[in-house]
Amino acid sequence: MSEPSADPALFDRVVNLTKRRGFVFGSSEIYGGFRSTYDYGPIGVLLLRNVKEAWWRSMVQLRHDVVGLDAAILSPPAVWEASGHLANFTDPLVDCTNCQARHRLDKLEDPNVCPTCESKGTFTEARHFNLMFKTHAGPVEGKGHEVYLRPETAQGIFTNFANVLQTSRKKPPFGIAQIGKSFRNEITPGNFVFRTREFEQMEMEFFVPPAEVDQWYQYWRDQRFQWYLDLGMPEASLRLRDHEADELSHYSSATADVEYLFPWGWDELEGIANRGDYDLTQHANASGEKLDYFDQASGERYTPHVIEPAAGATRTAMAFLMAAYDEETVNDDTRTVLRLDHRLAPYKVAVLPLSKKDTLTPTAHEVFDAVKGRWMADYDETQSIGKRYARQDEIGTPFCITVDFDTLEDRAVTVRERDSREQDRVSLDQLEGYLAERLGS
Ligand code: ATP
Repeated sequence: MSEPSADPALFDRVVNLTKRRGFVFGSSEIYGGFRSTYDYGPIGVLLLRNVKEAWWRSMVQLRHDVVGLDAAILSPPAVWEASGHLANFTDPLVDCTNCQARHRLDKLEDPNVCPTCESKGTFTEARHFNLMFKTHAGPVEGKGHEVYLRPETAQGIFTNFANVLQTSRKKPPFGIAQIGKSFRNEITPGNFVFRTREFEQMEMEFFVPPAEVDQWYQYWRDQRFQWYLDLGMPEASLRLRDHEADELSHYSSATADVEYLFPWGWDELEGIANRGDYDLTQHANASGEKLDYFDQASGERYTPHVIEPAAGATRTAMAFLMAAYDEETVNDDTRTVLRLDHRLAPYKVAVLPLSKKDTLTPTAHEVFDAVKGRWMADYDETQSIGKRYARQDEIGTPFCITVDFDTLEDRAVTVRERDSREQDRVSLDQLEGYLAERLGS
């Protein structure tokens, strides 16, 4: 099989769609925008929630051995000193003396060539730039009042290890999962929402007896890869890449990345890392608290080792959009359709009265009321029915329900499926069962 290739034109098409249809807006746009910060609009917020819900369902709800957590975003320097972030969470930064562009040395194709102006040997010495956002708590600034915005959600899990262990009655192997915002003062944000300074992560720390760590690393590597496939990512655009020894983070003895073939090439969606006992040991030493586990059966006390699958919610939502985007020619027209998995689709159904005439409105409202409790539903009575179908195709709505004048007589509606455009006439008293079966929810 030949290697699939990246499609640079896809990037503009998808970004264009997200702006046009209210998935993503540039932040603070009325004030000229605020660099690389984005807001999720009415459609985007639904997609993002669905990505997070799919993750939570597979990582927490469907498992007996993982519990959830929602820790604070702000924390004192002690946490970041112990975790190693104050010393090590840096990127090597170089400036081009010719064009003044700033780059991350580790992301350059050739470390001697500036990709902005293509001059050779014009970089300054690399400086190490800490990526954490610092602020202060209370009215006084300065030493002793500094706090940090978390650059990853993981540390809130480690600092709560003993709390969760005691209150949840779990024992290793078990995991703690968390979804939330993280903040990194990225040197080179870009590629739309792929790399931003404020983003959302979906992380899980899985605590295991030291002897089982390799086996659990393999397990989570495979599980996490499968999650993307199950949600419809094409296998040809997804790969698992093991890190080389010189790529490993300061805490990790093995890491594999799930990578997606973005329009600019292969890039990371998620990292699965064997963090060993690094974090619990660091926090135990620094805090003086016991962060270990006493196994009553064996009479053994040990510090659990940790496998961490760490994914980006915002980055992953973008990848699902790219993977779902399709254009096809129908009757000499181009139809844009997001072939999103039903679980990810922002709206599951759209209720479309054929005309705005008052005679149809009560029945259309009745249909909307019948579905809205169970599924996120849109209601749209503007423009021609063809245009409304096209609008729903563009945002990936799996089913459009059309209420027409016959509905008033036969108490049935037309249900149109997104991918095939096939239509069924379904009686109103069968509608919920019909949709439940076809949506699988
Ligand atoms: P990179 O090498 O791209 O900077 P990383 O390896 O530092 O990323 P991790 O610390 O492993 O990333 O974070 C886990 C996940 O969080 C990443 O796989 C990604 O999906 C997401 N993520 C990290 N940084 C950002 C960012 N600046 N914007 C959006 N998502 C991010």
